[in-house]
Amino acid sequence: REAKNKMPQYKGLERFKLLDKMGDGAFSNVYKALDLTTGQKVAVKVVRKFELNSTQDQTKHLNPQFKKRPRVTERANILKEVQIMRGISNPGIVKLISFSESEEHYFLVLELMEGGELFHQIVKLTYFSENLSRHVILQVAHGLRYLHEERGVVHRDIKPENLLFDRIPIIPSKHPVFRQYDEEKDDEGEFVPGVGGGGIGRVKIADFGLSKVVWNEETMTPCGTVGYTAPEIVKDERYSKSVDMWAMGCVLYTLLCGFPPFYDESINVLTEKVARGYYTFLSPWWDDISASAKDLITHLLCVDPAQRYTIDEFLAHPWCNAAPAPLPEPT
Ligand code: ADP
Ligand code: MG
Repeated sequence: REAKNKMPQYKGLERFKLLDKMGDGAFSNVYKALDLTTGQKVAVKVVRKFELNSTQDQTKHLNPQFKKRPRVTERANILKEVQIMRGISNPGIVKLISFSESEEHYFLVLELMEGGELFHQIVKLTYFSENLSRHVILQVAHGLRYLHEERGVVHRDIKPENLLFDRIPIIPSKHPVFRQYDEEKDDEGEFVPGVGGGGIGRVKIADFGLSKVVWNEETMTPCGTVGYTAPEIVKDERYSKSVDMWAMGCVLYTLLCGFPPFYDESINVLTEKVARGYYTFLSPWWDDISASAKDLITHLLCVDPAQRYTIDEFLAHPWCNAAPAPLPEPT
């Protein structure tokens, strides 16, 4: 963890005091920051405009102009990310407050999500009860429904690292939301997920770095000149939203048991498993999970995108509409 007094200083970001690093990737650094003009706490995502040449780069001494190359990764499309985020306003989606750039960097000022990644909460809690999983995944689903149905946007990178809590979830360690086989069930009251005072707060979708507009909002037609579009593109666009539904299936699976549906040490074997849609409800972890939850996952982790649930089918599934189930009687 970086010391607080060693926060970097970015030219062009003088308005903000960087407080803490919240995330870093190959493409961005995200900081918790104080807006010195408003006193508001925000998150600032800093993206380098140019690829830094590695020391292995043999060409760099030949021509100094090679020292700065435009970023070539898919992630480079930061302007698209900003454009998509600008058109979006929904309680299920991290808000873009402002955008600016300097010679070297892009700066995305975002709504601060103090609670961090869903990923970390899964690691911390091992896994979620069905009620807590439902509470979390429904918030994601409503955000996704807004993107798919009202904005024509496909996110394309739904995963626990890109789902953020607005504040640190407070859940007592002996609370029944923890399903622990090796611990006696306590008899505290039923967990009521709170969006206000207590509980775990809101979960929102972040990171539009890979997202794409697939439907023209006004005409509800695929983007591009329809009459000249090749069939594979038309099919592609028809099914593009289903990539998010697959990812939702993976997230829900992971929430319920604590490990992902597809995993292998070998990337080739893993790729093959995903391609075939080969996963199981592994015993003993899945033994006590409801048939309804499994049924829902089966309709999401479905290899044929035409058969896979859409967001509306997902939201209509009985598991999503079940009242929080009472805890099963100890046997
Ligand atoms: P990348 O394209 O590098 O994955 P992200 O937008 O996903 O960029 O941000 C990287 C990480 O930074 C996230 O996984 C999360 O941990 C943290 N982060 C991003 N946005 C916020 C935010 N608004 N509030 C708090 N943390 C954030
Ligand atoms: Mg990310």
